Amino acid sequence: MIMDVKENIIRKHFQDLQAKYPAMKLSQNVFGNWVVRGELCASAKFENVEIKIEDVKIELILSAMYPETHPVVRETTGLTKEFHTNTDGTLCLGTPLAVRVTYMRHPTLVGFVEGSVIPFFFAFNYLAKYGELPFGELSHGGKGLLEYYQELFDISSGEQVLGLLRILAESDYRGHLPCPCGSHATLRQCHGEILREISTLQSTDDFFMDYYSVYKLLSELNVTISQEFLIKRRIAKKHQK
Ligand SMILES: [Zn+2]
Repeated sequence: MIMDVKENIIRKHFQDLQAKYPAMKLSQNVFGNWVVRGELCASAKFENVEIKIEDVKIELILSAMYPETHPVVRETTGLTKEFHTNTDGTLCLGTPLAVRVTYMRHPTLVGFVEGSVIPFFFAFNYLAKYGELPFGELSHGGKGLLEYYQELFDISSGEQVLGLLRILAESDYRGHLPCPCGSHATLRQCHGEILREISTLQSTDDFFMDYYSVYKLLSELNVTISQEFLIKRRIAKKHQK
């Protein structure tokens, strides 16, 4: 019964995808995973630059957890081999959290293709045509993470980003306390919603790693970090030395 419900969801999501991208086909692989394959033809626009995406063959592999988790995607002709592609041929669409956040806002095949796959090929084609990336070069490591969270939280202070990440890393959500972003509102009335949304998308250990990368970067930049924004057990001591 559960299988039927799942299959119906997948077929429905696939129909919606095929209506927009008719060259896509749905099948099941030998492991029983649903796979969507075919040529992706689309046109995408960013800051008045329109780029056609064609001759791109992709494969979306849906795990048993679909639609709770997004598919993985491969480009099957080797076109993007040198560009943000993992060694197993799956595309590196962005940091795992960023891809999940985008996907969870529209957890369907269309949502995934339009939210993450098309922007990936848009960037790839844009780079080939203009010699630079359209959305700015995404920095790696702590700097990339900091920029990502600054945008997600819509705050510029690295220290305040850290204050919000601390709550996620320590699973220490207390809605009545003041929001670390400095708005003077309570967490519940301020960044509480976005924190609750993303807290389910990766583990506290993953958030700790993000916290640590940003912390390290800010320390290198000699940013003083308030006591209340420090991870209590693991970093606070180190910081006081
Ligand atoms: Zn806030």
